[in-house]
Amino acid sequence: MRLGFHLSIAGSLTRAITEARLLGCQALQIFVQNPRSWRWREVSREEVRNFVQARRQAGVGPLVVHLSYLPNLAAADPLLYRRSVQRFTQELALARDLEADYLVAHPGHGPLEPESFLRVAQALAQAVAQVGPRPLVLLENTAGQGRELGRQPAQLQRIMDLSGVPLGLCLDTAHAFGAGYDLAHPGGASRLLAEIAAGPGLSALKMLHLNDSKAPLGSGRDRHWHLGRGAIGLEGLAQFFRHPALQVEAAIMETPRRHRADDWHNLLMARSLMPPPALLPRS
Ligand SMILES: [Zn+2]
Ligand SMILES: [Zn+2]
Repeated sequence: MRLGFHLSIAGSLTRAITEARLLGCQALQIFVQNPRSWRWREVSREEVRNFVQARRQAGVGPLVVHLSYLPNLAAADPLLYRRSVQRFTQELALARDLEADYLVAHPGHGPLEPESFLRVAQALAQAVAQVGPRPLVLLENTAGQGRELGRQPAQLQRIMDLSGVPLGLCLDTAHAFGAGYDLAHPGGASRLLAEIAAGPGLSALKMLHLNDSKAPLGSGRDRHWHLGRGAIGLEGLAQFFRHPALQVEAAIMETPRRHRADDWHNLLMARSLMPPPALLPRS
């Protein structure tokens, strides 16, 4: 399992690669635009080329792009929906040019009715048809705040089935905890993985967002926290991380960062979750 962080691209895209190298990360997640703005910043061909080259040199991967926050692929309002699909398609195309492996997207907000799921599925199908199969789009589970879709794996499976295009899953531990899956105890982890196995299938699960939660179990709230200092705790995270059914390529931390030491702390905690390496035989 490869470990990494969501890192900032403030200033330039390649800054995130430099940061990843400094931290000794193998995996990396970035935004490719300001996540809180509809304004589109053109990324020059040269900037794309520099990024691709820097990433190859650093040997960082998988490279994951997280969709910005404003698009709502479930929007009932036709104007917002069109704008959201357009933005999603643009970000997916840029992620492809940057040679990203995955693009992670939240399903969106809307009433829990068939039309909402259909709108998300159609948006994904349209964008993938336009951009191509790479990067693979991963739907992320949510805490179910407000009218957020994607609280249960079955909801994500519904979208995957309706879309008719290949999609995968990204599982956020803090979101799952907020949605009521008690990862602090082995029963919660098993229930979550069993629901994934029965729905989208464990092979669809490509990566984790590895976050502890500041919000209580089942609160429907999404508050990421430092590994081992939240309501899930280190033991819960370790049990989940080492669950034999869990076979993911990478775990990305989206933990708070007030000081650089926060990243070091979380990276150490994440490493401690990994099963100990087998002892090498003495020669
Ligand atoms: Zn997310
Ligand atoms: Zn979150």
